[in-house]
Amino acid sequence: MTIGEFAPPNRLMMTPGPSSIEPRVYRALAAPVVGHLDPFFKTCMNETQELMRQVFQTTNRITMPMSASGSGGIETAIVNTLEPGDEAIVCVNGYFSERMYEVASRTQAKITKVEAPLGRAVDPEDVRRAAAGKKIKIVGVAHGETSTGVVTNLDGFRKVADELGALLIVDAVASLAAVPLNVDRQRLDIVFSGSQKALSAPPGMSPITVSPRAEEVLSSRKTKVQSWYFDITTAMAYWGQGRLYHHTPPISLIYALREAMRIAMEEGLETRWERHRMNQQALIAGAEAMGLKMFVENPADRLVTVTPVMVPAGIDT
Ligand SMILES: *Cc1c(COP(=O)(O)O)cnc(C)c1O
Repeated sequence: MTIGEFAPPNRLMMTPGPSSIEPRVYRALAAPVVGHLDPFFKTCMNETQELMRQVFQTTNRITMPMSASGSGGIETAIVNTLEPGDEAIVCVNGYFSERMYEVASRTQAKITKVEAPLGRAVDPEDVRRAAAGKKIKIVGVAHGETSTGVVTNLDGFRKVADELGALLIVDAVASLAAVPLNVDRQRLDIVFSGSQKALSAPPGMSPITVSPRAEEVLSSRKTKVQSWYFDITTAMAYWGQGRLYHHTPPISLIYALREAMRIAMEEGLETRWERHRMNQQALIAGAEAMGLKMFVENPADRLVTVTPVMVPAGIDT
């Protein structure tokens, strides 16, 4: 059997991710690969990190793309902060926040799950109640819960995490570059995303940023991070000043992510946030005019990148 020439269809992708990719990003993907220690690539790394700081709205030193999909970002944030015997809270209101709980429960830390009904955000008051009498090290929350189309207002969680002396860990896989997010102003400790969602780059990279306060927690660990590959401190030996080999990064994916972030910053974050908001308003207006109902009842809880619609009775799914 002869395998034919490769010709994937050019689909308009309207799922949360992978989303459709700009020709400029495809061109970056097809550019010549250089070595991971080539001076050209080191400059490209600096530029990629600078763009990433702009997209995250941060000056955090530790800001880099992990060589992994969004789930690798969850893994990185959790295994670097938790040590055996620590206590943590993970807020669960759907499939992806449940994944953060699942990752956390595989560490030797003691994890408390705080839940909300599907279609709603977790109430920070419930976190405060669940933390009573415990020494909580991290609070984990999904900014955008893709499975139910819910956005979480992070300010209440920051307040509770401050009271607990805990780090706030945020899954922004489905929200970064589409929903207002300002890592420094909102004082978020560890935030990670995925290249294939609102950034519209190919899947395979997980941008992550770590606050100086979280960096202190990492450097005062008593035990080694259980994952060698996702150890932030050793990964930063490559992405930091030293540029020491850690693992060979996916060079082409980094080219593509750099170009996708350049496009995002050319558009401007505010413009981009507003474009997503307006597109969702138009989509909802059209769907409601057809008599369809939204799954997320409270408009303030709606994640602009994902719009779940109730399937009317009598429709065979
Ligand atoms: C998609 C998604 C993930 C997982 O990302 P992968 O790239 O599929 O590993 C995690 N969290 C949220 C909120 C997501 O939308």
